[in-house]
Amino acid sequence: MDYAALGVVPVINAFGTNTRLSGGVLAPAVVAAMAAASTATVDMLDLQAAASRVIAGVTGAEAGIVTSGASAGILLGAAACLAGLDLGAMQRLPDTRGMAREIVAIRSQRNMYDRALRVAGARIVEVGIPDRFSGPGVRDAAAWEVAQAIRPGRTAAIYYLAGPHSEPSLPEIVAVARAHGLPVLVDAAAQLPPATNLRRFLEEGADLVAFSGGKAIGGPQASGILCGRRDLVASALVQMLDLDLPEDQFEVPPEFAPLEALGGLPHHGIGRSCKVGKEEVMGLLTALVAFATAEPAERTEIWTARLQRLKRRIGPLPGLSLVADGAKPGLPLLELRFGDAARAAAVEAACRAHSPAVHLDAGRLRQGILAVNPIALLDRDLPELAAALRLACGYSASDIPNAGFTSAGSGQT
Ligand SMILES: *Cc1c(COP(=O)(O)O)cnc(C)c1O
Repeated sequence: MDYAALGVVPVINAFGTNTRLSGGVLAPAVVAAMAAASTATVDMLDLQAAASRVIAGVTGAEAGIVTSGASAGILLGAAACLAGLDLGAMQRLPDTRGMAREIVAIRSQRNMYDRALRVAGARIVEVGIPDRFSGPGVRDAAAWEVAQAIRPGRTAAIYYLAGPHSEPSLPEIVAVARAHGLPVLVDAAAQLPPATNLRRFLEEGADLVAFSGGKAIGGPQASGILCGRRDLVASALVQMLDLDLPEDQFEVPPEFAPLEALGGLPHHGIGRSCKVGKEEVMGLLTALVAFATAEPAERTEIWTARLQRLKRRIGPLPGLSLVADGAKPGLPLLELRFGDAARAAAVEAACRAHSPAVHLDAGRLRQGILAVNPIALLDRDLPELAAALRLACGYSASDIPNAGFTSAGSGQT
């Protein structure tokens, strides 16, 4: 069966690897790894132990597991912070009455993905007034405010959304957490590139870090990574795995050694609905190693060349320029500046109404800016995308100046 058989028409994805548009496309090596994985069955505990070795090598973490996404990683990470290696607590989640169940979060870092903390059973305690965003001030939450929100016997962890604008800095938050013996759980779902961020947050002292596998890493859409402290990762793992086996048959792999202290086996845990398949595990690991070992400059060159070909295809268009993404080092964008939001919205809507539908990055629509993100864009879609953009901007689709362009895939300069 294929999309055509179902009457589902693929879109032209100039938006990026977002979930709504099914992420990006997989590299042939990733597809091959998934197909090969599907031809044999394995013990998932062994597979996650092997995954832990690969993830540890790439991130510098003590341990790591493949999850079904960053959101699942945050849920599992929260469950690990709440229950630790306490079987009874694992059994009760998401019921956290009587447990230390508060997770401190900085108000300006609140986002819809932090629901995963609450799904595990945590209560979010917000701190800080982000008046650098609301206008009247220049400050955000201070480290001392985070410290004051910590209550002995009530606080389980500190949540931190990694991002170029996140304040206070992660090292400041880590210092507060260490002083109180609390773990820091970092949502770094979309903080790649740069690939150096695979290690950075752990080096800065985070106890757990969640990455999305289906974004820039180039893994399967329903994959992610949770990595960090061995005891917390091990707790997360047993709250996700199917452990429906006689307890004496469970052998703790060295990668998850702290599980020796469990004294029994949990039943299907809070993370059971975050189940990840062997195909996703193998696909993610293949993509991760490729992402981590590739030369970042080469990735940037491929993306830049793609956007340059597109730009030549489009021809002269007012407000069109190739720029570097302000937030993601190494990521080029082809920007369309209209100067007013209504015009940008009209062009964006016209692109979506195109057949096939063209999805642009409209994150800065309010500033009158649309962008083409090259990550999930296919070279074969460039001519159609150029035509759709020209039409949406009020030019004819066919009147494409041949500015040195010969055919898709050629012209690298
Ligand atoms: C994308 C994203 C997520 C979710 O990642 P999935 O891998 O799709 O689960 C979580 N948090 C942030 C900040 C994200 O950008």
